[in-house]
Amino acid sequence: MIARVSLEIALRREFDYLIPEELVGQIEVGSRVQVPFGARKIPGCVTALAEESAHTHLKAILKVIGTQSLVTPKVLQLARWIGEYYCCAPETALKAVLPEAVRQEESGFRERLFVRVLNVPAEPPKLPRRQQDVWNILVERRELAMTELLTLAQTTAATVRKLEDRGLVEIAPQISERDPYSREQILPSTPITLNPSQVGALQKIVAAMDARRSAPADGKPTAATFLLHGVTGSGKTEIYLQAIAHALEQGRGAIVLVPEIALTPQTVERFKARFSSGKWQTLVAVLHSHLSAGERHDEWHKIRQGRARIVIGARSAIFAPVDPLGLVIVDEEHEQTYKQEEAPRYHARDVAIVRAQMENAVVVLGSATPSLESYHNCKSGKYTLLELPERVDDQKMPHVRVVDMRQAAHQEKGIPIFSPQLKEAITQRLERQEQTILFLNRRGYSTALQCPKCGYVAECPNCSVSLTYHRLEQKLCCHICAHVAPVPKVCPAENCGNPAIRFSGTGTQKVEEAIRKLFPQARCHRMDADTMKRKDDYRRILGDFRAGKIDILVGTQMIAKGLHFPNVTLVGIIYADSALHQPDFRAGERTFQLLTQVAGRAGRGDVEGEVFVQAFTPFHPAIQYARRHDFQGFYDQELEFREQLKYPPAGRVALLTLKGRSEDKVKFSAEHVRRELDKLVAPPAAPGGEAAAAIKDLIIAGPAPAPLLKAETYYRYQLMLRTRSMSKLSHALAKMVAGLTLPDEVTMAVDIDPVNLF
Ligand code: ADP
Ligand code: ZN
Repeated sequence: MIARVSLEIALRREFDYLIPEELVGQIEVGSRVQVPFGARKIPGCVTALAEESAHTHLKAILKVIGTQSLVTPKVLQLARWIGEYYCCAPETALKAVLPEAVRQEESGFRERLFVRVLNVPAEPPKLPRRQQDVWNILVERRELAMTELLTLAQTTAATVRKLEDRGLVEIAPQISERDPYSREQILPSTPITLNPSQVGALQKIVAAMDARRSAPADGKPTAATFLLHGVTGSGKTEIYLQAIAHALEQGRGAIVLVPEIALTPQTVERFKARFSSGKWQTLVAVLHSHLSAGERHDEWHKIRQGRARIVIGARSAIFAPVDPLGLVIVDEEHEQTYKQEEAPRYHARDVAIVRAQMENAVVVLGSATPSLESYHNCKSGKYTLLELPERVDDQKMPHVRVVDMRQAAHQEKGIPIFSPQLKEAITQRLERQEQTILFLNRRGYSTALQCPKCGYVAECPNCSVSLTYHRLEQKLCCHICAHVAPVPKVCPAENCGNPAIRFSGTGTQKVEEAIRKLFPQARCHRMDADTMKRKDDYRRILGDFRAGKIDILVGTQMIAKGLHFPNVTLVGIIYADSALHQPDFRAGERTFQLLTQVAGRAGRGDVEGEVFVQAFTPFHPAIQYARRHDFQGFYDQELEFREQLKYPPAGRVALLTLKGRSEDKVKFSAEHVRRELDKLVAPPAAPGGEAAAAIKDLIIAGPAPAPLLKAETYYRYQLMLRTRSMSKLSHALAKMVAGLTLPDEVTMAVDIDPVNLF
């Protein structure tokens, strides 16, 4: 017997090995094995079994790693598709489908020493510095593996033993699974009686699941994908829960994808609560990036062993080994974070659809503001649109007022942070003891440090962006590469030295400060990446807000997503244009989505909500359609623009980015790539042979400097490709890349269906 093996080193091909007598029967597709390669021993994954090989003198597999094949043949097939479609090496695709923690031979289930906090004294204990470092980590994590603790604290076991001697911690071996949610008490929940539009949607999903189940394996592409379009609070999650129950009833499992940021304990609890007892009882596994390697390993194996039939997780959970798979849910399907920004650059929503097709499962995409791509697929009949037009609690949509900041700036002789209208509205809320959310998509204090005399702007030495001033920390920071610089007292430009150097632009710190000045009695809190340093911060602040201990919450994106706060009756969007003026064809779509999402935070209780949108371009369609809660209107006009320029969904895009430290070399290489690409449109005839098939509708733009020309010391040039049929193009690109020679210091990234154009 022969096994075809993909090695975990970048070689872009597979190799044949003999299966030795003693290993026959232990090796199947998906097994991890160790094989000889040159003088080395290398781990790999068996991707196929064969009776014979085209090669002679085959070497034999040395051993099997682990007891169970890790990748199911179905997920393996998916990895193959990813490699081909997203133009990446098969081993890169394979790595993506199997978490590092599972691949690591040593992170198996076995007894390990765990350190657990026994009690946290009311008075912080007085400890020597090394012990204090260890203690700080433990207080935050409560329990973790000794090995992990030692790495984190950079110390030895002796220090930890001293804490044990003080009676603060317990050190004990454990085989038990590392369940990140083990300490939580979850009350069981039962299905809610659905309203008529929910019933209609669920019936269609269930019918499709039944039809798919009896369809022949590897069925033809059918309209099995659903798009569930409904505002927050329209009862989408309840539909998901009942559809999952149906999958379990069919003897199949489900994967629920949610954006990392929305994967809060409350979200997870809702799923656990429904399936922790009763007829369809099963474990619910959770996969996200904050799990420790051990936790991830154990969650993964719970799924592989079939004990957890439901998986809820961020992007990479789409590869969870649920088998058989009946249902995939992609909540907030329009979210950019479903796209992975490093190779393999896959889009989890699109992978979900392909995987479901391969496994006869049904996909439900959910969103209040669907992506243009998905909505377009409904219009063209590829997906089925399900609409939930109303909130379950009959709440009205909030009243949205657009404030023209040009007028406010004129009246106040300068650009104010708050328009008089918004100020007035905040005052009212404080009087009525209702809560306010203020949203601004920029952290820090000011967005730029500028000299009014000579025009000097403090820029990052590594990136082509200005540095943001962080006032509390008294430093200038780059939000791309995290470079930190001191704040100059005078203008540092040569021959200038102006002491009146100024900060311009507004960040969340400045908004918070302005609120404290204007409303000293208000309890104000800020929530952004700078204040959310610890694991528990997010939860704590939201808890305080829910409990009414905070009057005004200032924040970035973090507060824009699916949070439920009945007492919030006012939302202020400080600067709605910020996302509009970016050189990205999705700028309008993102602004529309963001405004709709943020506005959705207002008025969830008995009182109607009010939203103030402050904008310098108040008549922009993205702002006006969001004001009227008119998705259809926005979609129609936006599609027209996309069609003119053949942007998605009217066409497909591939983005090639060349990167290097020498701008000249990058530019020169990009020009070379352009000449190669031109051959795809008009292929030269091979001597004596026929020309390769041309991609006639290919539009090539560039090379041009990337919008962010320099990032983390690398110069970047881009080429953008547009075509109707992506699979043809990615096939041609893979071939071109394989034959391409670039200077050593220049690399090229191929991004199929990019969402980030910077
Ligand atoms: P979405 O996911 O669209 O934001 P949810 O499913 O979370 O909506 O529903 C919002 C709230 O309404 C939840 O508390 C949910 O339990 C409740 N709910 C959902 N469907 C119904 C229903 N048919 N009748 C009453 N309450 C419902
Ligand atoms: Zn930088």
